[in-house]
Amino acid sequence: MTPREHAGNGLPPGGGPRMGEVAVVGAGLTGCLLACFLARRGYQVTLYERRPDPRGRPPERGRSINLALSERGLDALRRIGLDGQVMAGALPMRGRMVHPVRGTPGFQPYSTHGDRAINSIGRGALNDALLAAATGRPGVRAVFGHRLTGLDPASGTMTFQTEDGEVKASAPVVLGADGAGSAVRGRLLAYGTLTETVDLLDHGYKELTIPPHDGDFALDPGALHIWPRGTSMMIALPNPDRSFTCTLFWPADGPGGFASLDAPEAVERHFRAEYPDVMPLAPGLVEDYLRNPVGTLGTVRCASWHAEGRVGLIGDAAHAIVPFYGQGANCAFEDVVELDRCLDAAGDDWAEALPLFEARRRDDTEAIARMALANFVEMRDKVASPVFRLGKSVEHALERALPGRYVSRYELVSFSTMPYARVRRRVRRQHQVLAALAGAGTLVLGALAVRAARGGTGGRGT
Ligand SMILES: Cc1cc2nc3c(=O)[nH]c(=O)nc-3n(C[C@H](O)[C@H](O)[C@H](O)COP(=O)(O)OP(=O)(O)OC[C@H]3O[C@@H](n4cnc5c(N)ncnc54)[C@H](O)[C@@H]3O)c2cc1C
Repeated sequence: MTPREHAGNGLPPGGGPRMGEVAVVGAGLTGCLLACFLARRGYQVTLYERRPDPRGRPPERGRSINLALSERGLDALRRIGLDGQVMAGALPMRGRMVHPVRGTPGFQPYSTHGDRAINSIGRGALNDALLAAATGRPGVRAVFGHRLTGLDPASGTMTFQTEDGEVKASAPVVLGADGAGSAVRGRLLAYGTLTETVDLLDHGYKELTIPPHDGDFALDPGALHIWPRGTSMMIALPNPDRSFTCTLFWPADGPGGFASLDAPEAVERHFRAEYPDVMPLAPGLVEDYLRNPVGTLGTVRCASWHAEGRVGLIGDAAHAIVPFYGQGANCAFEDVVELDRCLDAAGDDWAEALPLFEARRRDDTEAIARMALANFVEMRDKVASPVFRLGKSVEHALERALPGRYVSRYELVSFSTMPYARVRRRVRRQHQVLAALAGAGTLVLGALAVRAARGGTGGRGT
């Protein structure tokens, strides 16, 4: 559809509500999946996206070209039959490969079940697949080059900035799936029904590339690679073209921060000192570093996620989190499944379904926001410590000794769909029991640790 086709106020003759129509703002991962689920329920869905049509274009350079998809995301894809197609382009990562400054990298499996893996997926390919799935369903259309700039929650009237100027449209239901910097959230804030806090990290991120080496992967593609360096770190995920996307998570300012490392010689010196094994694998590293942007990271909390019984927020727009548990998109996909359930429970009455969705998801999204922040410390610092590795060995030994009764946090977050808030409560209980056992001086723990240390397993965190 061209912008002109819905120019004007977009209301139908007579101005009455058009039941069955939903406007989804943002054709990212959440918006496209949401459109699939809504189309299955019989809704007419229009996806409004500010970017040009991404299909067939190369991914945006320097902006997270891959992500780790795990059980929660896969569960959502399975429900609409897209898991097979998406997984065909995925690379399983069964654990972390931890790279010390000097010495040999060490592998730490994620699970005691050897076949369990998180999956490195091309973000662009995933978005394309979801967009194609959405627009291939009857009743779904996507409109590109439309940036939402205005919204009247009372009437559902939206204003978009387009190449051809300002355009208005309206819908009985408007859902904001427009990401961490959501314009829909901004409009609800201005409308007075929403309050928000945005906690930005002192760390930003920047992407680099390790190209294929002699046509093959330069590192083991079966692992997520981590270079923990105390207050900062680098990670690398494999891509289907045999390259790796590296992401630096460094302080924005101060020593070793992005702002202080802005000259080619200083950048090269820093990498030679801190990441010596990476330099020979990434010939364009310094150029990449100087060219690619620094992204910000933060946690968005807001309430309410809905207004006037017809406007709602979903995915990062409602609850963006830091990426250190690899759960942002997985959590957003779980949102879509839960909203679908709420529509079932409310008989498709949006005024009932939207508050129910917020009530059911709030504790879970807060739980993963906290776990993601805590995991940053674990990834950038603790994974390198022998004490941490021993602790993980004990944990995996306990999982094997008490199958189903003791399950690690990583296992529950990444390889189950147990609600995040329940995961937090359960892990806290498990730790209390362990602390009690340790306090009583039980020999069981020591025996398990010795046995596990001989087996040499460990690992948790993305
Ligand atoms: C460095 C990094 C690594 C990550 N790694 C992982 C990972 O491994 N696993 C994982 O699960 N998650 C990961 N995430 C999180 C994940 O990227 C997000 O949770 C996910 O993209 C959220 O999807 P979304 O559709 O809600 O938002 P977005 O992906 O931000 O999509 C929003 C869409 O809305 C559009 N839009 C924005 N504003 C407007 C407007 N005004 N009008 C119209 N359209 C608009 C945007 O163009 C975009 O298409 C990572 C994030 C970062 C930053």
